[in-house]
Amino acid sequence: MQTITRTTKYSQAVQDFVRAKGHATNADILQALRQAYPDLSATTVHRITARLVEHGELALAPNAPDGSARFDANLDPHDHFACSHCSGLRDVKLDHRLLNALEQDLGGCKITGQLLVQGSCVNCQNRRET
Ligand SMILES: [Zn+2]
Ligand SMILES: [Zn+2]
Repeated sequence: MQTITRTTKYSQAVQDFVRAKGHATNADILQALRQAYPDLSATTVHRITARLVEHGELALAPNAPDGSARFDANLDPHDHFACSHCSGLRDVKLDHRLLNALEQDLGGCKITGQLLVQGSCVNCQNRRET
């Protein structure tokens, strides 16, 4: 019984954290929640995120640069911008005109999946200038 209530509590904390951050890996979640829950293990976090994805409470975002899975609080289909300097990831909604232009460029192929745009985020650009 105790395990069930504890998992539920953790599960809520995981969801709250991912919602607040937008995107997070298991490692991000573990690091952040360990402060409040010192006995939280990597295995538990892993199990919770897997179940949340299975239940449609979290979506999968593009993988982190180190290849680990990244979870997304935004459940609507959307595209992403990933910074290649920091591991920053943000949601983008690409204009349909841009998608049309891309599809035309692809000779009429239809884009049905997510796009991942890579670049240098504002923070990293500012850091380089100073
Ligand atoms: Zn960056
Ligand atoms: Zn996203």
